[in-house]
Amino acid sequence: MKYRFFLFDLDNCLIHIPDPSNYFDSILVKTLQKLTECVPERKIRNKLWEAGENYRILLEEWRVPEIDKFWEEYDFLDFSHRRILMKENKIKLFSDVRPILVNLLKKWKNVKLGIVSNTAYYIVEYMLTKFKIKEYFHHVFALSSEYPQEFAKPAPTGIKITLDHLGFNSTNAEEAIMIGDSKIDIIAAKRAQIDACLILREEAKYSGTITQWAIQPDYIINSLWEILEFF
Ligand SMILES: [Mg+2]
Repeated sequence: MKYRFFLFDLDNCLIHIPDPSNYFDSILVKTLQKLTECVPERKIRNKLWEAGENYRILLEEWRVPEIDKFWEEYDFLDFSHRRILMKENKIKLFSDVRPILVNLLKKWKNVKLGIVSNTAYYIVEYMLTKFKIKEYFHHVFALSSEYPQEFAKPAPTGIKITLDHLGFNSTNAEEAIMIGDSKIDIIAAKRAQIDACLILREEAKYSGTITQWAIQPDYIINSLWEILEFF
């Protein structure tokens, strides 16, 4: 196996959220409706997900008065919706996750597993605990007052912080890979100078546009089982 440091995105990489783009957009709309008169159209709203460090500029354009309050509200709504969907068994752990994590840890003694998520830490922790997979990870990075929105992917900061915690250094620079279902996971990995793997959890998500991305993944997989096969 080429890699020793495996970093995973959480939402729709390890945990299935039904109809994710509409799910996250509806939370965004509800948050905006609460805080401002200005709710831009969908195409404009979508820009927020790839804004990274520049999210403040967008929120200012949308006349959100207290920007820090925005994420607090957003996370609160996200958490309450997720809990309902989890209770209804609509948010689920993908079936390949647990066997792959167990396999990786069993087969390779020095393997280190991490999570790099753009979701609020308390939500991530709740989900990892509920799905009983927290114990498999040596480090979990998610957003909090310590790690603010500026650290969110596509910024490479979360990946770098996680790799530091896992004991990664420049001598093993080729041993790390980030696996995620979104373009921002690939951009963040490349900005952190590690390999990137796109997992296609929903076939229609990028419908044939991946080849046009300026930053390309090193691998594209359909299931986590392919990690054992190809890496
Ligand atoms: Mg994701």
